[in-house]
Amino acid sequence: MPLDASPTPLVGETACDVLIIGGGPAGSTAATLLAEKGRRVVMLERDRHPRFHIGESLLPLNLKVFERLGVTDEVAAIGVHKPGARFVSDEHGKHTAFSFAAGLNQDYTYSYQVRRSSFDEVLFRRAQRAGADAREGMRVLDVALEARGRGALEARGGGALEARGRGALEARGGGALEARGRGALEARGSGALDAPGGHRVTARDEAGAIHAFRARFVMDCSGRDTVLASAMGSKARNPHNNTAALYGHFRGVAPFGARDDSAPLSAPDTGAPLGAAEDGNITIHLFDEGWFWMIPLPDGVMSVGVVSNPGFFKRRRGEPREFFLETLRAVPSVARRIADAELVSDVTTTGNYSYASTVMHGDGWLMAGDAYAFIDPVFSSGVLLAMASAEMGADVADAWLDDPARAAPMARAFEAKVKRAIGSLSWLIYRINTPVLRDMFMEPRNRFRMREGLVSLLAGDVHTNANRQLPVLAFKGAFYALSLAYRLGYRLRPEGLVRVRAAAPAP
Ligand SMILES: Cc1cc2nc3c(=O)[nH]c(=O)nc-3n(C[C@H](O)[C@H](O)[C@H](O)COP(=O)(O)OP(=O)(O)OC[C@H]3O[C@@H](n4cnc5c(N)ncnc54)[C@H](O)[C@@H]3O)c2cc1C
Repeated sequence: MPLDASPTPLVGETACDVLIIGGGPAGSTAATLLAEKGRRVVMLERDRHPRFHIGESLLPLNLKVFERLGVTDEVAAIGVHKPGARFVSDEHGKHTAFSFAAGLNQDYTYSYQVRRSSFDEVLFRRAQRAGADAREGMRVLDVALEARGRGALEARGGGALEARGRGALEARGGGALEARGRGALEARGSGALDAPGGHRVTARDEAGAIHAFRARFVMDCSGRDTVLASAMGSKARNPHNNTAALYGHFRGVAPFGARDDSAPLSAPDTGAPLGAAEDGNITIHLFDEGWFWMIPLPDGVMSVGVVSNPGFFKRRRGEPREFFLETLRAVPSVARRIADAELVSDVTTTGNYSYASTVMHGDGWLMAGDAYAFIDPVFSSGVLLAMASAEMGADVADAWLDDPARAAPMARAFEAKVKRAIGSLSWLIYRINTPVLRDMFMEPRNRFRMREGLVSLLAGDVHTNANRQLPVLAFKGAFYALSLAYRLGYRLRPEGLVRVRAAAPAP
């Protein structure tokens, strides 16, 4: 239905340089940086801060972005110091800590665990202080992307954005936007769909009033709502990673190591010694169908979640709460820690289904963070990827506003960097459930500085120089060699390669 025929009141149009959809970590990062460059920024956030969000464990390379935003002290004040990550495997009867201080990058050697409600609010208020017109309770409904000089294509829907017809919207050389595929939308020649003078965005406030905006540049930072990618039909599910999660907050969870005396986990640890200094670590408990996270939050709360394949969740009988508790009790190293714990929140389910959009940017628009792609959270990389891509995306938007031609190569470099970062983490993610990678995590070796290289990846050092890539390449080479050995019946054990059975199928 055309908006001007709607019975809801239409609030007059606001013009801006950049309109940002979504006020999570990606949106607030971009809004702060662009406002500080003197751009007129509008950021529209559907919810009101503070609001719950999952994604509570941060990485050391996040600190670099905090410095640029000037929020280091504020984050330190709301966070739990995180020195590293500990991986626990009941199958191996072992656990290994990866301390960030032992990585190749000695500039950023720790991070924080945060309640996202507090963290996202810090970032959002920072954007407001920088001068962004950052509004809460504003759900973006429609985006009409302008093809400069040629008219615009429009994505319209009620509540969710919807491109009329299916197919990707594509920006090509001459600025024309083109949609191909079923029910293709095509805007060729001038004025195909009329929206002169910038992209047109409409949003609904909590009272139901519709607000209109004109923006020269649009950044989609709407997270897993993927406003633009859904509208364009460009969202593609990642066939290599198909997982879901169940999670909640507990009180009274025992720190790792506190109850291990009678455990099968008595093998010597190859990482840092256990102790109070380590209480801020994230612990990842590996089990045969996936993994659990335990993230210590302020005030003695522990975020606990399980990630597994859809088949595992389909076996669920009864309420999510009961299934969640049963699942936790079924894995000994987890069961010990929650024995005296109390669940103090609702239990939430999220389909983690990884995806990426087939397009990341076009003429006067781009996607950052989860609005472009989502990868499995096993290495706590989501917030860093979101903030780092928003930081680079803000530079692209800023350059585009001055000179679109100059911005074009920057946008291509932005796309390549984002994809490379996602690619380096995805290599590990796709293999985390294989016996070979799990053996390597439980028996980490530092030949060719492989362990340091792995720690750097775990720290989020994914935009690194070629020198630092070598240990990572050595680690990957070792994985392929060990995969061959696995097929021949050998596995990595403390004493070296040990024949454990007859030759097996590929891992
Ligand atoms: C189970 C699970 C566990 C995870 N664990 C971790 C972890 O430990 N560490 C980590 O770093 N990452 C983790 N992540 C990933 C992390 O949650 C995301 O990668 C991160 O929040 C992405 O930030 P973003 O700014 O791109 O999107 P978001 O944080 O999702 O922010 C998007 C914002 O856009 C708003 N929005 C959406 N639609 C609209 C609209 N139409 N109009 C206006 N506003 C809108 C939303 O309300 C939201 O505030 C996890 C994810 C899952 C699913």
